[in-house]
Amino acid sequence: MAPRVDPVASDEAVPPRADVVVIGGGIIGVSAALFLAQKGISVALCEKGHIAGEQSSRNWGWCRKMVRDPRELPLIIESLRLWERMNETVEAETGFRTCGIMYLGESEAELARLETWLEHAREYQLDTHLIGAAEVAERLPGLAKNWAGALYTPSDGKGEPQLAAPAIANAARRHGAAIVTHCAVRGIETEAGRVSGVVTERGRIACQSVVLAGGAWSRLFCGNLDVELPQLKVLGSVMRTERLDGGPEVSASGGRFGYRKRMDGGYTVSTLGVRTIDLVPDSFRLALDYLPAVQVHWKKLRFRVGGRFAEEWRMQRRWKLDEATPFEAVRTLDPAADPVVLDRARASIAESFPAFRDVKIAETWGGMMDVMPDAVPVISAVDAVPGFFIATGFSGHGFGIGPGAGRLVADMVTGGPTLVDPTPFRLSRFTDGSNPRPHPLAS
Ligand SMILES: Cc1cc2nc3c(=O)[nH]c(=O)nc-3n(C[C@H](O)[C@H](O)[C@H](O)COP(=O)(O)OP(=O)(O)OC[C@H]3O[C@@H](n4cnc5c(N)ncnc54)[C@H](O)[C@@H]3O)c2cc1C
Repeated sequence: MAPRVDPVASDEAVPPRADVVVIGGGIIGVSAALFLAQKGISVALCEKGHIAGEQSSRNWGWCRKMVRDPRELPLIIESLRLWERMNETVEAETGFRTCGIMYLGESEAELARLETWLEHAREYQLDTHLIGAAEVAERLPGLAKNWAGALYTPSDGKGEPQLAAPAIANAARRHGAAIVTHCAVRGIETEAGRVSGVVTERGRIACQSVVLAGGAWSRLFCGNLDVELPQLKVLGSVMRTERLDGGPEVSASGGRFGYRKRMDGGYTVSTLGVRTIDLVPDSFRLALDYLPAVQVHWKKLRFRVGGRFAEEWRMQRRWKLDEATPFEAVRTLDPAADPVVLDRARASIAESFPAFRDVKIAETWGGMMDVMPDAVPVISAVDAVPGFFIATGFSGHGFGIGPGAGRLVADMVTGGPTLVDPTPFRLSRFTDGSNPRPHPLAS
């Protein structure tokens, strides 16, 4: 079942020209469109389905600095600054609140492992610190199980995924962006080797630059341009509870559960502990690139072989721009939640918080995360196609960093000083011999 998203109306017409076309109306695309429009750049955002129909409405809503790959820290710090004034910026409710996030440790050994991340917190003067069992119990009312302690960041926050990207899209429109939904971009046209326009299912838009913020579809889009993006899809499964009064305000993860208190008084519940991987042809094509990530996360991965192998095998990978594409065939990627993962999450949270034993589950959904071999996004110009930029591969943690990433790519497109140094996010890291690997703790 797809979660209900705040609807954003589409512009009626596809504009014939824009300075920049943004492909994809998730948190990254709408943020890029907003910051470009705020700079006075003419921008058209095309979304094949509806705004935030895919990952950006299906995530937990955590906006965290804690336990990120250190390469992402300068950007997430800036992104949280943008979140803190987001309601004001977009003149609407995005649900952003500073609530604190905790990673619980069951044993001293687990705490010691979490503690290793403090070296990065110190480097960036973050408020992340270890707390003991008594403080955990005090900060998480209703906690029954005894935890050894936790890694805690009081300044981390949360947003409402079903409100945030729509609110940002509406603000981008007020600043002059065209927002066209139900409009797949089939590909890019070039003149003298550089971007000259995009072809959509509803006609051509002449432009000088393109930002691909296509989430789980980005590899397919790039493939038709002969640009190799080593991206895979991983299924996340989520449930939403009915209202539950008196529960914890601080978001936390431990054992096999993770949760966030929602503005509607219910909880979004899932697990950081298990990720479902459907084996598809790309799993084999990219096996070598992902070997280090599989070694690091082996215990968390639940491999399955099923219908998705044949589905992706049959999926068209090359097309001409006057032909219908897979983007038009699947308006919204709406995978079913993995019941095994949700059962484990439910049992685990009920063991820690007895109040969750009897709360009704109002809905469940799946979301397809777009991951990179080192779990760090690509926010990069594509050297082979001047004028083409990619902002994708957020590897299951792109909601929190979304506004910062949108601002960074907007800066890169316009050629001004950038919000942070974009070098760690370059696409060429996969081919220039730097051998990028995932951080052992970050997820
Ligand atoms: C279950 C789950 C839990 C998560 N929890 C968190 C969390 O707590 N915190 C966090 O920071 N992150 C979390 N994430 C990750 C986060 O949701 C994503 O990283 C983020 O939403 C990515 O945003 P995006 O804009 O890149 O992609 P998406 O939101 O997937 O948007 C991409 C859009 O591009 C459109 N598109 C693709 N190709 C085309 C085309 N050719 N033409 C037109 N449109 C196109 C798609 O239809 C889609 O709407 C979670 C993800 C999942 C699935």
